[in-house]
Amino acid sequence: MNHNSIRIIDNLAEITSYHDRHVLEKSLLKTLNEIFPSQDIRLFRVREHRGSHELSLLAFCVNSVIVSSQENPRLITEPSELSEAIFRAINNADVELISNDEGKWNVIYPAFDAHGAIFAVLLISTDLVPSNGDQRLIYGLLRVYSNYLVLIEKTQKDKLTGLYNRETLDDEITKVLVRQAPHFNEEMSSPNDSRRRTFAVKYWLGVIDIDNFKTINDNFGHLYGDEVIILVARLMTSGVIRDDDLVYRYGGEEFVVVLKAPNEEDAMRTFERIREMVATHDFPQIKQVTISIGFVEVSSQPSPADVIGEADEALYYAKGNGRNQVHSYSRLLSEGKVKQVSQVVHGDIELF
Ligand code: GH3
Ligand code: MG
Ligand code: MG
Repeated sequence: MNHNSIRIIDNLAEITSYHDRHVLEKSLLKTLNEIFPSQDIRLFRVREHRGSHELSLLAFCVNSVIVSSQENPRLITEPSELSEAIFRAINNADVELISNDEGKWNVIYPAFDAHGAIFAVLLISTDLVPSNGDQRLIYGLLRVYSNYLVLIEKTQKDKLTGLYNRETLDDEITKVLVRQAPHFNEEMSSPNDSRRRTFAVKYWLGVIDIDNFKTINDNFGHLYGDEVIILVARLMTSGVIRDDDLVYRYGGEEFVVVLKAPNEEDAMRTFERIREMVATHDFPQIKQVTISIGFVEVSSQPSPADVIGEADEALYYAKGNGRNQVHSYSRLLSEGKVKQVSQVVHGDIELF
């Protein structure tokens, strides 16, 4: 075994040691950059949208610096010679090679999922056209990436509903808490950037619980109960409008929705729409199923457990107040109807 093969094995071990897709993607680019040093390498996500393909930049590596786009990969909308070549690679399901003005080559590789569909595209800018051996290596690494991604997604999804599971929720809330922290925003925006602040996006977390679910189980059986859980999950997924709003199965008949909205009224409207969609759905045999929702802004709570705890307070209020309703924790708190769960003092954390 030569040194090159040993290095590749090391890199494979490195790639498969992470359970986070962004880290996995950065690690893939790091490995490719080691094999093809100082090249421009870019990884795009490919998604079908209304019958055509949509490209967004997932991660890139320029001069050995690797950057992941994290939650909001930039959508590629401007047509160019390069994007046309990428679409050719997708349509032909084959590697595409074009030269640019500086005499470099852009080599485009489609990455296939387990069903043979193209879910990503890799672009490598290089002085020399990769050899057959290099090409096989690149395709091999893309297959490892694809296979491993399937595994990661499996561990993140709930089997019954296909929604994200509880384990991934804490990570998501932590990410939002960090992003929304005042010091993080100060560093990201200039002091007179108040306009941007005013329109800054806010995140809202709602805990959703099916009302009187035990009765459904008792009267129609557990299997029927499972069907209701699946139907409610589907209704909730279609009730959130934004592509990046997230729906989780938190427990048996409990769900969590994390959504973006500029203010409390907007968040309330979305949660109300979800509640109404379920309440007006004609369920086979039992006809009506209702849900109760408590929600809160994810802003400066000390921990994910506090965010859930606050939304839970509002949910309990909804349960005690007649069910089939939506309540905001901060509104109930200002009205003195729930107790305070946690408190933030001058940016430091004090737990009750
Ligand atoms: P409330 O309106 O106060 O929420 O009343 P509830 O009856 O919905 O609440 P409770 O928490 O008492 O009951 C939830 C029930 O959900 C108890 C449990 O047997 C059932 N359950 C939990 N997980 C599942 C599941 O995966 N499938 C089915 N069919 N039932 C489940
Ligand atoms: Mg419950
Ligand atoms: Mg319940």
